[in-house]
Amino acid sequence: ITTAQPQPEQVRTTCGYCGVGCALDVVVSGNQVSAVLPALDGPVNQGHACVKGRFSHGYLTSAERLAHPLVRKNGNLEPVGWEEALARVADGLRGAVAAGGPDAVAAISSARATNEENYLVQKFLRTVVGTNNVDNCSRLCHAPSAAGLSAAFGRAGGTDSFDDVEKADCFLVVGANPVEAHPVVGARLLQQALRGASLIVADPRRVGLAHQADIHLRPRPGTNVALFNGLAHVLVAEGMTDPDFLRDRAAGLDELVELLAQYPPARTAELTGVPAEDVTAAARLYGRARRPAILYGLGVTEHLHGTDGVRTLANLAILRGAVGDTGRGHGVTPLRGQNNVQGASDMGALPDMLPGYGRITDPDARARAEAVWGRTLPARPGLRIPEMFDAARRGSLRALWIIGEDVCATDPNSHQVADALDACPLVVVNELFLSETARHADVVLPVASWLEKDGTFVNFDRRFQRVRTAVRPPAAARTDFDITHAVAAAMGADLGCPTPAETLAECGRVAPVFAGISHERLDREGAVAWPCPAPDLPGEATLYTDAFSTLDGRAQLSAAPYLPPGEAPDAAYPLLLVTGRRWAHYNSGSMTRRGGNLHLEAGDHIDLHPLDATRLGVDDGTEVTVESRHGTARLVARLSEELSPGQVFCAFHFPESGVNALTSDHADTVTDCPEYKVTAVRLTPGAV
Ligand code: SF4
Repeated sequence: ITTAQPQPEQVRTTCGYCGVGCALDVVVSGNQVSAVLPALDGPVNQGHACVKGRFSHGYLTSAERLAHPLVRKNGNLEPVGWEEALARVADGLRGAVAAGGPDAVAAISSARATNEENYLVQKFLRTVVGTNNVDNCSRLCHAPSAAGLSAAFGRAGGTDSFDDVEKADCFLVVGANPVEAHPVVGARLLQQALRGASLIVADPRRVGLAHQADIHLRPRPGTNVALFNGLAHVLVAEGMTDPDFLRDRAAGLDELVELLAQYPPARTAELTGVPAEDVTAAARLYGRARRPAILYGLGVTEHLHGTDGVRTLANLAILRGAVGDTGRGHGVTPLRGQNNVQGASDMGALPDMLPGYGRITDPDARARAEAVWGRTLPARPGLRIPEMFDAARRGSLRALWIIGEDVCATDPNSHQVADALDACPLVVVNELFLSETARHADVVLPVASWLEKDGTFVNFDRRFQRVRTAVRPPAAARTDFDITHAVAAAMGADLGCPTPAETLAECGRVAPVFAGISHERLDREGAVAWPCPAPDLPGEATLYTDAFSTLDGRAQLSAAPYLPPGEAPDAAYPLLLVTGRRWAHYNSGSMTRRGGNLHLEAGDHIDLHPLDATRLGVDDGTEVTVESRHGTARLVARLSEELSPGQVFCAFHFPESGVNALTSDHADTVTDCPEYKVTAVRLTPGAV
């Protein structure tokens, strides 16, 4: 007797880990993922994929996945049916509004969720609850990119297509470690470097690309603005600017030139620790390249002056005329961390922006959304994530819905985050697992993961791509899309948008920049970049070919002076801690540490220079206590010459070590993005 075996099928989807947006072919047999293959014709990845996308899917069948909704009763989270859980959410939201008005409710939407889910969440907050209190985790990573790139060029995204990587002859890679954090980008940059492109890496650590770099600049953490001003000084002083471009398409040159007088190489060297000759050499390499490109990561944004960092970095491309399809370069590209962190903001999961970045304070933008949604919208910007936690601690925020973010494990000064959740009368968490944040919730709703749902993501160079259901989720789990509809229904509301495809179509009516993008078109074409205002127009992979999207149509140079970071080492805390990513894991590790890559980078360690290790009496493998002014973590020491003496590095994939209790409340002065990249710490062998 033979038993018929299910025939494997392949489902094309988009990776749900990092923001590169690799197209993956998921091989499925009997509702099980048996393999994940990089798509040879993937628009961004072209047959590449990294260890996360290919092998980190074991979490799907983890025994730890939530098997029921949970509701807190007598202090304990107890399993209940969906009906009871949804009733508790709806009652709690109604109670919060009755007690404190619509602004007593807030939601943190998810950079892991689809565009359609993010659109629906912000629509629920704005039209059913009546508040703009919705934000997403770009607040903690690339909010300074949105602010800085908008101010410089007009739109909150990268200026060019990553496809242009093959045309560039010089890369300036700043505050990013793409070999580990965005491996497919790292691979394509290295390939181009091997073909002869020059490579300048600016990073305090000797990250992977730095090994191949022509010049590695190692600024002290927190001194980016001084470094970028120093590079700009050399461009101007040595005539490596584009006078025609600056005359015809840029504004702010005189103010910038006046400021740059303060940043000759010698002074830049004093401020940053980068030798003056390296500042000059790097500026010449970038300034004399035929088609230079700038790519940057969280090492630029997660600072007290992160938005100034983005703007002063953008200055370099503007001075060179290397942006806007001039044939002289490939602009400025932020390397986004999470799969859909660009899309979550694009969809209006922001307290001051509607879908497509219409300002909530702009009557015309509100009127466009009101016409589609059929109700008047609140005009006052809502709370940002850190403000939500402050409001919860003060008692004015009475309900917080957190969708797929483990804020207790990943946000800075994490003890204070937990206190805020405990003070809030209703905390609802959508999650795959009983995360640290879920443990503080009143209602926990089990969700489908990215391999179990339908929709779209937007990657780091603004490309929409399809996400398709490869396997069915566990019986208890629902998509964030279905949950948002169900909560609205429990409150007597109908959000419309019955399917993800119809949701994206409605989004295009609210936000004309997306009007030409549909599921049907993406199924046909694979990827379309926004802005794309009509179905018969191609997406604008390269922006600003005619004019910049600023008020006067010109790129805006920024005369931002260097200001010191929020923390500095002193006698009590003599080391500078930088946190970041390692190659096998993703964010809090909730997916990558559950199946798949269990044996890769299986525990966290803190990297320190051998000179510091000797001084502190620490060996490779010594357990150490790391203390900052804000908290304590316990880690294992790893000696590394990739760091300069006086600096230490650890990842944030193992929050149980306490690493995010170390980081401070300092945040970007424009966007509130935390200063994760500069924390003064001390290190002691053993447990303290
Ligand atoms: Fe590609 Fe990023 Fe996924 Fe790796 S994690 S496969 S680089 S999208």
